[in-house]
Parts: sequence; C-alpha cells; structure tokens
Amino acid sequence: MTNTTLKSGAEALSETLIDIRRHLHRHPELSNEEYETTKYLISLLEEAGVTIVDYGLKTGVIAEVGGLQGGPVIALRADIDALPIQEETGLPYASLYPGKMHACGHDFHTAALLGAVYQLKQQESQLKGTVRFLFQPAEEKAKGAQQVIDSGALEGVRAVIGMHNKPELPVGTIGIKSGPLMAAADGFAVEIKGSGSHAAVPETSVDPIVAASHIVAALQSIVSRNVSALHSAVISVTQIHSGNSWNIIPDTAVLEGTIRSFDEAVRSTVLKRFEQVAAGVAAAFGAEARVRWIGGPPPVINDALLAQLGEETSAVLGYTSVKPVPSPAGEDFAFYQRVVPGLFVFMGTAGSREWHHPAFELDESALPVASAFFTGLAVRVLEHFSSEGGAGA
Ligand SMILES: [Zn+2]
Ligand SMILES: [Zn+2]
Repeated sequence: MTNTTLKSGAEALSETLIDIRRHLHRHPELSNEEYETTKYLISLLEEAGVTIVDYGLKTGVIAEVGGLQGGPVIALRADIDALPIQEETGLPYASLYPGKMHACGHDFHTAALLGAVYQLKQQESQLKGTVRFLFQPAEEKAKGAQQVIDSGALEGVRAVIGMHNKPELPVGTIGIKSGPLMAAADGFAVEIKGSGSHAAVPETSVDPIVAASHIVAALQSIVSRNVSALHSAVISVTQIHSGNSWNIIPDTAVLEGTIRSFDEAVRSTVLKRFEQVAAGVAAAFGAEARVRWIGGPPPVINDALLAQLGEETSAVLGYTSVKPVPSPAGEDFAFYQRVVPGLFVFMGTAGSREWHHPAFELDESALPVASAFFTGLAVRVLEHFSSEGGAGA
C-alpha cells in the first residue's frame, strides 16, 4: 500500500471514526469500569473480522491482525477510560452520564486505533508480522498498563507504540522525540506523629503542625540543592490535614502531594532525599514521619530507533513532526516501556483547553491523521524488524 493510498484510506474512514469517537464520548466510563466500552469495541472488532485474543482482562480488549507470514509482533496501544468530571462543552454529543467525561481524549485515541485496525486489516496478507492492539483500561488511575502486562498480552512483543492527543499542536503536526517525554508521577502521603495537648501548654506536646510546616519548607530545598541545574524535578505539597479545634494541639498531621521527574536517577535521588528530609526534620522536633508512596508511573522514555522510524513515517505521509517539550504530566504507557522498547507521540488536535478541563475539546479532523500514522508506523516497524532478521530496537 502506497503512502497516498494509506492517507486516502484514512480519509475515507473519517466519518466512521468520528461516529465511533462520538459514541464513546457520549458513553464515558471510569477506570476499570469500562464494561460498555469493552462490549462496543468487541462488537466493532468482530464486525471487522478481526481476531480478539482473550487474556482474561475484565475490561479492555486485545486484538490481532497479520502474522500470516510469521514475523515479529509489535503492539499499538490506546487507552479507553474517562474521568470523573462534569462535562461543560455544550456539544451535541456531550456525555450522557452525569459526572463522567472523556476529558482526556481517550475516546479519540480509541477511535484512531480502530482506524488503524481497519487499515491494517485491509493489507493483512502483506504484513511482515503481527500487530497486536491493546485497548487498555484504567490509564487515569495508572493501573491499566500493568494489568495488561500482568495478563501476558505483552509477551513476544518487540515494540509498543502509543500516543496522546495534544491540544497545543495543530492538526497534521506530530510531536516525536527520543528520550524523556513525560514525567514519572509519584504521589506521597506523610504522616507526622507528635503528641497533643491543650493549646495553652505546648511545652507538654510534640506539635505535629510545627513539624509539618518545617517539613514542607525543607522539602523545597531538594530540587534546588540535590538536583543538577541540567535536570529537573517538581515537588508539590497539595494537602495538609491536621487538627479540629482552635485550642487543641493535635496528635498527628498528614501531608500529601506529588513528585515529578524525567530521569530514573533523578527520581531515585529525590525520593531518597524526600524520606531523609521528612524523617530528619520530624526528628528535630521530637516527632516521627512515616512516608507512604502512592505508586505512579515511571517516566515515558522513548526508544531512539522507534522515534526515528516515527519521524520517517510522519515525513512520508506529509505530516509535520516537531520535537515536543516534555510534559510534567504522568502517563502509564511508561510501564510498557520498562518491558519493551516503546514510542509515545503527541498527536496535534488543536484544542483550546488542556487535558482534564470540563470544556476539553479537540478537532476530529485529526482522527484520520492519527489512524494513518499508526498504520504507516506499524508497517514500517514490522518491515524494519523483519529486514534486520531478528535484531531488536
Ligand atoms: Zn488524563
Ligand atoms: Zn490521557
């Protein structure tokens, strides 16, 4: 299939993909509750005669195309879950479910991946390997990728490719870079144990609020004193809970927040220093600090060869590829990249609102672009792996 037919094939699917995306948009489901979405996807895949492989996932679908000539296996991934947000777009196809919305555009990812399923199915007999489609649940809770890995669906896969819509980029522009693209997103809860008293006699207490205040201030020294100027990290304390009366010093205080970083070495330094600072400062006040980590995804780090194949694909299809600025948001696609080489790209969707905004919208004319890019890149990666006779990325 030539690049022109690939592109026109995607354009011809445009209306179908828009219908699918709008159906998903009307019926958003939260992480690990994507039952209707799963049924809908299965019905579309069956209708297209695509093989569905049962890995025992409760929600989400794994499907396969190709492999008729043997060859390597690669995976294309889309996330399918929505967010607990009340939609405020006023669109005719707005969410029918109160308090739930596809505000991160995973409906777009799912429809675009279906476009690639349809396009690759059309050329199935010529494919130089197998394309496994991961319609993954629960990205927003950073749980779904690991569930897919645990199911065994990544076994035998040589490379994994995924994307996120990007409101800041115009339609037809794709953000592709090797190396770090999105941050590791670690959450923390610190419990500071002191000992309460009447507020009038603080000398009989170990005041957890004073200790917590010093911990918050001291944590801000980690990025400035322990992280090189050439690297970056963020520590944000976003919740402080303690006490319930104006005249009682409480027993405990709890801090919560998040740490973002783009490099595993920086990440481990920051996490280690965080624990030392929290425990050390608490001890200085006679209190105790216990840090509980709320597991987020590691950083999204793209494979150099796959990024290069991505840029080539974009160029031959006539799209513009740009080197995107890394995003401090987290993305559970990173879990796959710990297991196999992967490429995650930003697909331009020309929106006026950022991800997770109640008025989040995107330009649906990006659907065929995403579909053609997924398709073209899958073909290119399979050809590359088969021509190398087994050498990996
Ligand atoms: Zn999101
Ligand atoms: Zn998202």
